[in-house]
Amino acid sequence: MSRAWNFSAGPAALPEAVLKRAQAELLDWNGSGASVMELSHRGKPFMALAAAAEQRLRGLMGIPANYKVLFLQGGATQHFAQIPMNLAGPDAHADYIVTGHWGEKAVREAAPYIDARVAATSVAANYLSLPPRDTWQLSKGAAYVHYTPNETIHGVEFHDVPDVGDTPLVADMSSNILSEPVDVSRFGLIYAGAQKNIGPSGLVIMVIRDDLLARAGRPMANIFRYAEHAANDSMLNTPNTWGWYLAGLTFEWLEEQGGLAGMGERNAAKATALYDAIDGSSGFYRSPVEVSARSRMNVPFTLHDSALDAVFLKESEAAGLLALKGHKAVGGMRASLYNAVSLEAVGVLVNFMRDFATRHG
Ligand code: PMP
Repeated sequence: MSRAWNFSAGPAALPEAVLKRAQAELLDWNGSGASVMELSHRGKPFMALAAAAEQRLRGLMGIPANYKVLFLQGGATQHFAQIPMNLAGPDAHADYIVTGHWGEKAVREAAPYIDARVAATSVAANYLSLPPRDTWQLSKGAAYVHYTPNETIHGVEFHDVPDVGDTPLVADMSSNILSEPVDVSRFGLIYAGAQKNIGPSGLVIMVIRDDLLARAGRPMANIFRYAEHAANDSMLNTPNTWGWYLAGLTFEWLEEQGGLAGMGERNAAKATALYDAIDGSSGFYRSPVEVSARSRMNVPFTLHDSALDAVFLKESEAAGLLALKGHKAVGGMRASLYNAVSLEAVGVLVNFMRDFATRHG
């Protein structure tokens, strides 16, 4: 069996060491005589696993004591709706910074619950750049400001945390969480679907400041209320135990990689290698995104002649390079370079691209 070089946008490549460990422990976890998937979430062994995973994440991200960590379900999409429900009453408003597909969707899903105002958008620039901070029309009394630090489809990324004053900053970090060091204290709430940099889909990690948990929101079932999940250590109902377990293994792997500082350096080197290959291809390949907004995680690129797209995909797949087709909203190609994608994998991709350009140039 051989594993391909996987550039999927998500669900995405996981560290091979994590998969191998999960495989080795699959039938008998921790000497329990059962798979971790087959054990009660309320039993001592799983509770210990759960707490240890949270502690590792706290250490990796440097999460201050006044923040809770939640292991939730529903995908990031469900939380597009649940965040406004929890953070504001029905008459409140919130500001959204829209820099791509996922920001648009966050606004759409929030709209039934809050006056979701678009305070800035780069739609007129086809989401190929970021709206400068001094053009944002932040409104007085907003319950929060929501943004997407990395837009997975358009391949644009904020390289600094925007200053929004005292208004809580809410970040959908689905596609860049744990990819570099982060100052959690700048955020009111961070959330991310697990299926890119953490583990399998079906798990959402949320880091939320205590005072936001205390916000009344509105009447709703307990299952939607973050404060209830926090009060029950994310075991209000049966959590995604398998996802939680794999997340813990990934956190351990990240520690071995030098934590987020080590990961950040490696991710920068990977992105530089690929963008250099694109920029140095004499126009054979092109990155449409403005240089200052280029994502380290998702690199969309086009070929100078789109008639070659199908050939590129066919040949890349034959060379063991998976999932390079761009999202249909953007076209062309996209290589996703999440944490589990090694510098070696990027090297293989770059060599393939050079060779392809020579043969088809
Ligand atoms: N936000 C971002 C930035 C994403 O990349 C994605 C999915 N790839 C989502 C939200 C939606 O996540 P989910 O499918 O887990 O709801």
